[in-house]
This record gives sequence, structure tokens and C-alpha cells, in this order.
Amino acid sequence: MILRASQSIGVFFDGGRILAGRDGRTSGEMISMIVKSALLSAGCSVCDVGLAPTPCIQYTVRFGHYDGAVVVTASHNPPRYNGLKVVGRDGIEISRDEEEQIERVFFEGRWTPKVQSQLGSMKSVGDILTPYQSAIEGRVDTEVIRRSGLKLVVDPGNGVGALITPRLLSAVGCDVQTINAAIDGTFPGRPPEPTPENLQGLSKTVKLTGADLGIAHDGDADRAIFVAENGEVEWGDRTFALVEKHFLMSNPGETIVTPVSSSQLVRDIAEEQGGRVEWTRVGSINVSRRMEEIGSKLGGEENGGIFYGPHIPVRDGAMAAAMIVELLAKTGRKLSELLGELPHYHIIKTKIGCPENRKDHVLAEVTKVISGRTVETIDGVKIWRDRRSWILIRPSGTEPIFRIFVEAPSRDEANNLLGEYVTVLRDLIDEGVYDGKPAR
Ligand code: MG
Repeated sequence: MILRASQSIGVFFDGGRILAGRDGRTSGEMISMIVKSALLSAGCSVCDVGLAPTPCIQYTVRFGHYDGAVVVTASHNPPRYNGLKVVGRDGIEISRDEEEQIERVFFEGRWTPKVQSQLGSMKSVGDILTPYQSAIEGRVDTEVIRRSGLKLVVDPGNGVGALITPRLLSAVGCDVQTINAAIDGTFPGRPPEPTPENLQGLSKTVKLTGADLGIAHDGDADRAIFVAENGEVEWGDRTFALVEKHFLMSNPGETIVTPVSSSQLVRDIAEEQGGRVEWTRVGSINVSRRMEEIGSKLGGEENGGIFYGPHIPVRDGAMAAAMIVELLAKTGRKLSELLGELPHYHIIKTKIGCPENRKDHVLAEVTKVISGRTVETIDGVKIWRDRRSWILIRPSGTEPIFRIFVEAPSRDEANNLLGEYVTVLRDLIDEGVYDGKPAR
């Protein structure tokens, strides 16, 4: 399947100059060889960058004037997973339409091998990390950072973030310690997703060493999650709101792009600082594409994705780390204090099982059951109970579940709202399904 998919990607690129890279998963080397061979057989020139953070590869495509890239990565997913991420010449993941072009070649088997004289060749590519690191350094005030002497702990989670973030932050004068910094595809230190439960080691290390900040990445280092000096692991949209605040203070009137699953904090900060928010469907590609369309300079996601347009409008864990470090250096304050000044909301993220063939019906019905409330259907169904409380019900694209996000000013209000809709959803999911049990 990998061979056929890569051949189809090769047909799509039609002989361009393509970067091939990968994250640190154990299957990465094997899969990467298949990808490279298939691209060569489709007549592409292939530049192998080997192990590299995904955003570093994306940056190199965009500014090194390549025609695209194929990255072998499964991002934050468990060790046994792997995948192919196809990047276009602008450095952003290709669009859904373009993916469908590749899928048509794949399913219709419209693939003819090139004749011998048209086969591609491997081209050398130099060090891609150094120009990428310099680009990030050029986007922050390195003098202020250097003077601050901040003490940091970086946890790349045995992923490829180990290649960039410790050396970037050391280069700008921070005192950097690391945990889980040996790249290892079995992810022995912690699972690759930087969730609060997976970051307890980082939280303890930050407290134990008296560090100012902890920084964690997912497996391919496009996301960054931060741990405050008190050991508290923060959701990505709270730290993003801080970046947003400081960005809007020096760039008034700008438009911030974020998915509908993000905290209303993003809206609150925009209103407070005279900016605008553009809500998108969930998924980093939707944020990137919208930023390009409207020329937005800043986007963010609740999972720790920060998109800084002047650098590259894709999420970039090392760039995000540099921005938060700059913010601490400039303000001279603790992360917990800065976050404490933001409006406080309680967020619940959960999921509820639903057979694939019931999803559309349930979503259509749920909006009929409720009335008199603002409903947004940018992605799934987002219902605002009032100006400060909402629930988002989103069908997963890959699993027979709905993902549920609830946000309200307090834990009790969030729980009540969740309870109310879980009952409605369960009734709609079970409706007409005879399971031999008495009705609940
Ligand atoms: Mg990732």
C-alpha cells in the first residue's frame, strides 16, 4: 500500500524536486526507502533529509524552492502507527482536493512506470537545520532572551524535536536541560502526544530544578505544550492566548485564525486588544490555508499548534517555544502569573461512541432538539448556551465516535452542560436501535 500510495504521489508531483524526510519511528527508515524508490520510479528528483522535525522540512520546501515533500510521520500517535504527510510547494500540507487527485490515481491504478531514461535520481541536500534555526532566531528578540538567562527544561518525548529545540534555545543564551531527548522510535520516555497526563515527568523536573518553563513536543515537533514554573501543564489555547495578546499589542487590528474547538479566550483577547478572530474547521491544514487566503500572521490550536505567518503559516513547535520564551523574557514575569491574568474558563474534552451510519442523523437531529440558542456548523455542531458557555459535537473522521468539547466559566457549569447533551446524544444514537433492554 505504501508503494502504491507513494507511486501515486509521484504521479501527482510529476517529476518535481521532492524532499523526503521522517520522524523517529522504528518503521520510518523502511517506509522512507519505499517512498524514495517510488518517487524515483515516477521520475522525481529526491532529496533525502532523513530525520527532521516536520516544520523544518516544510520550511525548507517553502524557502528552498522545492516542489514538495513527503514526510513519513505519525505525529503524536502511538509508536506502532505511521503515515505519509504530503507537503506542497508552499510548505503547507496539500489540500483535500489535491489529496483526492492522488487517491484517484491510487484507486484507479493509473500508474505507468517511467522508462529507464526518465527515472529520477537522488540529489544531495545540505544541512537543513541551521537555516531553519536561523530563521526562527530572526523572528524573536534574541538580545532580550539572552539577557533574561531563563532556565528551561525541554522534553521532546524521544521525538525529532530533540534535534532543534534544545540547540535553538541554548544558542539564544538560555540555560537548557533536557529529558527524553534521545530519539527513539519506541518512545520509552512517554507516549508521543503531549497531554497533561503524559507530561508528569516534565512537570516534576521543572519543579525539582526550579526552572522557569517546561517545553514539550509531540513526535514530529510541530506542536509545543508548556509547563509553568509551578509544574502546571497548560492547554495549548491558554498559552496561545498569551502569544495572541502580545502579538495584538504590537500588531493592532490583525486577524487571528483558530479552529472552532479553541477556547473563547482567543475571542476575548482579540476583543480586548482590538483584533478579529476567524474560526475554521478543526485540523491544522484549515488554519494554514485560511491564513494564506486572508494574509493572517497568527493562528493557533488548542492542542499546542502555533502558526506564525511571517515565519511560515504552519504549526511549528520550535517557533512556538521561541515565542513563549521571548514573551517571558520581555515581560520578566512568571508564566503562571501571566496566565492568571487571562479570563478563566473550564474546558472538558471527551468522546462518545456512535456508529458511522448514525453520525449524520444525530448531528441533524441534535440541532432540532434544542431551540433558541446560537448554533454554528463550521465543523460538527457548536451550540452556545450563552455568551460564555458552549458545547461542540464533532464527528471523528477516523473513529466511530463524536468528540465533545465543552467550555464554561466554572467546572460545575461545564459538567452540567455536558450532562445535558450527553443524555440528548445517547437518546439520538440509540433511537430505534432495539437492543432487547428496557428503555432508560
Ligand atoms: Mg505533529
